[in-house]
Amino acid sequence: MPRPLRVAIVGAGPAGIYAADALLKSEAATEPGVSIDLFEKMPAPFGLIRYGVAPDHPRIKGIITALHQVLDKPQVRLFGNVDYPNDISLDELHSLYDAVIFSTGATADRALDIPGVDLDGSHGAADFVSWYDGHPDVPRTWPLEAEKVAVLGVGNVALDVARILAKTADELLPTEIPPNVYEGLKANKALEVHVFGRRGPAQAKFSPMELRELDHSPTIEVVVNPEDIDYDEGSIATRRANKQADMVAKTLENWAIRDIGDRPHKLFLHFFESPAEVLGEDGKVVGLRTERTELDGTGNVKGTGRFTDWDVQSVYRAVGYLSDELPKLPWDVASGTVPDEGGRVIEGGVHLRSTYVTGWIRRGPIGLIGHTKGDANETVANLLADHAQGRLHDPATPAPEAVDAFLAERGVRYTTWEGWHRLDAAEKALGEPQGRERVKIVERDGMLEASGA
Ligand SMILES: Cc1cc2nc3c(=O)[nH]c(=O)nc-3n(C[C@H](O)[C@H](O)[C@H](O)COP(=O)(O)OP(=O)(O)OC[C@H]3O[C@@H](n4cnc5c(N)ncnc54)[C@H](O)[C@@H]3O)c2cc1C
Repeated sequence: MPRPLRVAIVGAGPAGIYAADALLKSEAATEPGVSIDLFEKMPAPFGLIRYGVAPDHPRIKGIITALHQVLDKPQVRLFGNVDYPNDISLDELHSLYDAVIFSTGATADRALDIPGVDLDGSHGAADFVSWYDGHPDVPRTWPLEAEKVAVLGVGNVALDVARILAKTADELLPTEIPPNVYEGLKANKALEVHVFGRRGPAQAKFSPMELRELDHSPTIEVVVNPEDIDYDEGSIATRRANKQADMVAKTLENWAIRDIGDRPHKLFLHFFESPAEVLGEDGKVVGLRTERTELDGTGNVKGTGRFTDWDVQSVYRAVGYLSDELPKLPWDVASGTVPDEGGRVIEGGVHLRSTYVTGWIRRGPIGLIGHTKGDANETVANLLADHAQGRLHDPATPAPEAVDAFLAERGVRYTTWEGWHRLDAAEKALGEPQGRERVKIVERDGMLEASGA
């Protein structure tokens, strides 16, 4: 009797869910069909949409509603609070499924190798993001005593961090932030937030919309120094070739020539300042030293040997996310990804049979949620081609019930898709008396309990 193709997806962020969607929309989904299980280490699915996207971006968080349609399908099951490889190993996955797709994304901060980076008051953006997004595995409090703060990096994560630091707690109260985050932000003393980029306005990696949004807050005055507006031939070529880069540069030019208003919190966007050292005293951050750079004609910059010390009491590094290495899979240290060809995991030049990757663990931590969709389509197309050519291995116990039995025997307290609906309802109920869409439950136990795990 032919049976459905059994696929395990490890990591229920957007990439994993889009991979499930691609499988469901494929020809293989018709008789004998596909059957997909998503394994997720958090009690709730949705990855960085829940634990990365800023709380004041409800429209982006709303993508979760579209992803519901995939998880609502009867061919898809969710096993939350299940960690690879601690709760289920690669061999065990291969014994239960025809194929395994890893879509474990990225959660940590890429290192920045400058002196003073380990001082008290120097933070990774990912840790701060996890805190304000109510991640269960980070401390409940966050030190926000600094009046002047530096944010290193000119991508969207730097903008998120700078904006959350510069907004008032009351501006963020209507969002889904949990009570501990609201209380923490109420104590925030930041009056000045300084964002630093090594290169110029044409090289900034901001999305135009995210950049313009900074100016919408009634408490944030965005300031750009006219001396930081500079372009060389490389920059001009970038602006011509890339509409987004051009829009970003235009916005920054407009801000550089306008009068500075009197909104209470100043958010400075500095360019051509390369972080050289975090300055400390008694183990604590007391400043940031940057080296002025200049364009070299190609859009790159070189140091000028002119240094500035900025009076700041804390520093946030938003220089990129980093994926966790996955045990039993090959690893490319330089890119921090699993080596692949078209989503097929490659070890020693050959495809690790029945094993695939997609999303940030494959492409690196670059790009928006939508970009993970094309990625997932390619991975799934290759998986299905391997299936059609009989290149997948035969699992020992492909019956779906074998998974429940396996996790029960292992004593894993797992959550399900029905459990997510219960957690979702519980969070919405918490928000309702305050007229808020939702208030997040932070504690892992609280999430498990609300999910009925
Ligand atoms: C701070 C921040 C803000 C962002 N804001 C936006 C935005 O406003 N708009 C936008 O379009 N994009 C935004 N992005 C980008 C977007 O979040 C990513 O493009 C997208 O989430 C990548 O999807 P992914 O599924 O590959 O990874 P992830 O979203 O990281 O999902 C991976 C999933 O795998 C799970 N997992 C990890 N390890 C294991 C394991 N060992 N076992 C089981 N499960 C595991 C994780 O818990 C997670 O749920 C933002 C990114 C960051 C970092």
